[in-house]
Amino acid sequence: MKLNELTSHELNSLLKKKEISSVEITKEVLNQIDKEDKGINAFISVLGESALKQAEEVDKKIKRGQEISPVAGIPIVIKDNINMIDVPTTCGSKILSGYISPYDATIISKLKSADAVFIGKSNMDEFAMGSSTETSYYGITHNPCDKECIPGGSSGGSAASVAANETILAIGSDTGGSIRQPASLCGVVGLKPTYGLVSRFGLVAFASSLDQIGTITKDVHDSAVLLKIIAGHDPKDSTSAMVNIPDYENSLNEDIKDLKIGIPEEYFGDGMDNEVRALITKAIEKFKEAGASIQKISLPHTEYAVADYYIIATAEASANLARYDGVRFGMRAKGGENLIEMYQKTRKEGFGMEVKRRIMLGTYVLSSGYYDAYYLKAQKVRTLIKQDFDTAFKSVNVILTPTSPTPAFKIGEKTSNPLHMYLSDIFTISANLAGIPGISIPCGKTSSGLPVGLQLLGKHFDETTVLRTAHKYEQANI
Ligand code: GLN
Repeated sequence: MKLNELTSHELNSLLKKKEISSVEITKEVLNQIDKEDKGINAFISVLGESALKQAEEVDKKIKRGQEISPVAGIPIVIKDNINMIDVPTTCGSKILSGYISPYDATIISKLKSADAVFIGKSNMDEFAMGSSTETSYYGITHNPCDKECIPGGSSGGSAASVAANETILAIGSDTGGSIRQPASLCGVVGLKPTYGLVSRFGLVAFASSLDQIGTITKDVHDSAVLLKIIAGHDPKDSTSAMVNIPDYENSLNEDIKDLKIGIPEEYFGDGMDNEVRALITKAIEKFKEAGASIQKISLPHTEYAVADYYIIATAEASANLARYDGVRFGMRAKGGENLIEMYQKTRKEGFGMEVKRRIMLGTYVLSSGYYDAYYLKAQKVRTLIKQDFDTAFKSVNVILTPTSPTPAFKIGEKTSNPLHMYLSDIFTISANLAGIPGISIPCGKTSSGLPVGLQLLGKHFDETTVLRTAHKYEQANI
């Protein structure tokens, strides 16, 4: 097997035994990007030179016999809505072209202290709005499993790069499913942690009460290792939680015989692809064989989740995106007779269609005549959705659902119908509204070879149970 095909934990043990070097891994990954990325377009920028320098430094540490972190010398890709000092952050948008980050996001500082090797910034839907990575100003990302298909979104570049072995690890962000859905469609593992577990300082805000940074990896073990490194309280993020960070890796092998897994009936209705349904049903059987008890549950407000999300997320986005005015960040349109015209021209030229649609929706639901009817009501529904989970978690430890109702669809298939596109996240959105953790892991392929993912949801800050359940399935399935 080539080095770029291995997992981070496998590479870490080879590095520690001095059988390989970080420079070798980094070169293999860069070669793969060179060979493959023209057809995939997972990267907005590749940081080859600085990555090799970082790798050399790690190799020196190993030579000197210094202790290294579990991700030291391991290539990682960062979604392009996370700030890294002296590197462009585009958010997949024209409006940020020319913007160079003046600081590091907290997770970047943490990964730097752990000596990870930053291989590049990944492609994404513009400002993380989308489910297919088709709205990026920097071109569409293709699914490595079938290049005529979308990779999912908005962290499509991160998921595709992991699936194509163009990196070992990746970071994404998830506002309504943007880590889990692309992970599912590309056949890799995507973890959205509990809201507040990973600092959002330096993540460009889309919908601040829903956004969460998380991991995209080749297996569950790597997710556990990477999560431990990026999690933790951060005084620079006022929504960051003060909780102890457990050793997720240590609990991976604990038994799941004591486990109660809930299956929500609302997630198995019409609209689900038959092959997806069959694979999820098979996975549930596997969990039974592994000794877990399976219990039917109800999450009665599920049917309102998509509508609820598109009111709250667009409202927050319309406020967050007000800062792109041609003055402080990125591009400024030419012409314009006065300040107001300059703002208007910049936003007209700089934002794509989907972003404009969201800003219009968001300002509408927040406007004085409609605030109570839409935004306020949506906040109440959000509480009901969270309460559904609180009730369910009184009787089960984790909840199992499909990640996405369909496998990857063809490029262009849903671009003309935003509502169809929005339904791609029907199974992932509720977790963001409730703030709970969720993981997507591969559970097989359709007859045409497209990956399907299953989602496991857990209680707030109970990533340990989510990861251990996912790990058990992965082990049993190999
Ligand atoms: N697809 C959803 C949206 O378009 C979720 C995006 C995300 O999680 N960033 O808003």
